[in-house]
Amino acid sequence: MRLDGKNGLVFGVANDRSIAWAITEAVVNAGARVGLSYQGERLERRVLPLADRINADLCMQCDVTDDEQLDAYFAKATQVFGKIDFLVHSVAYAPRADLMGRFVETSRDGYRVAQDVSAYSLIELCRRARPLMSEGGSVVALTYYGGEKVIPNYNVMGPGKAALEASVRYLASDLGPENIRVNAISAGPIKTLAAAGIPGFREMLKETAARTPLRRNVTYAEIANTALFLTSEMGSGVTGETIHVDGGYHVMGAPPGPHG
Ligand code: NAD
Repeated sequence: MRLDGKNGLVFGVANDRSIAWAITEAVVNAGARVGLSYQGERLERRVLPLADRINADLCMQCDVTDDEQLDAYFAKATQVFGKIDFLVHSVAYAPRADLMGRFVETSRDGYRVAQDVSAYSLIELCRRARPLMSEGGSVVALTYYGGEKVIPNYNVMGPGKAALEASVRYLASDLGPENIRVNAISAGPIKTLAAAGIPGFREMLKETAARTPLRRNVTYAEIANTALFLTSEMGSGVTGETIHVDGGYHVMGAPPGPHG
């Protein structure tokens, strides 16, 4: 799967363990030129060296909840790339206090922030990317099974991911006539900075591996390769879809029995 001559923007690199970084490496290795961003100054010193590593054409601050920063970022992207072919949304956040305890105690502000950062931002990014996707394009968002079923401690992120997945379908319908495809990858758990914010994540990794048809957790490469498929011509017939890259975890209705 080659992406020679293609340009894309990847949102969500915090460090070299970010899913967004694995995707960046995969698309760059396939020949694409990539623009990166980082949420705030705190992450600048981590992300700039990564941008250098791939000779990124663009890397600047962009908090996805800040309209001015979004405007500035897309103005620069327009200047640098002229047109883009893909966009990766690998961004999520919820206040830690709302990721533990009882869901019924979720705060209004925690709910609002989780929706704004993790779901609404996809719409903002698509609206700004659209004029740049003059020859069509592919948008890929990262989601998790906690948006479909209850996962302990995922709490406020559950409705966040449910809204993200619904937005993927509505955006796919809206942008399809412009040959812009919008899909989500529902990734199995993988140890990143964001995952470290979920209480009991280590146990979740163990339990997931034991319950998964493949009897293991997924790798960065498996998630990145699916993103590569979706951004490339190979995925040209797929839109509005949430593809599970979770070793099959989501098909299980109960823990495996003695015969699998
Ligand atoms: P990560 O911490 O490396 O990435 C999350 C990114 O979101 C960070 O780069 C962070 O800077 C960015 N972000 C948060 N708030 C932002 C804001 N206001 N503006 C701009 N950027 C902001 O962790 P990750 O696990 O690679 O997460 C990437 C995506 O994958 C998320 O959507 C996450 O929900 C999803 N996901 C993760 C897992 C997992 O187990 N790690 C599983 C399924 C889905």
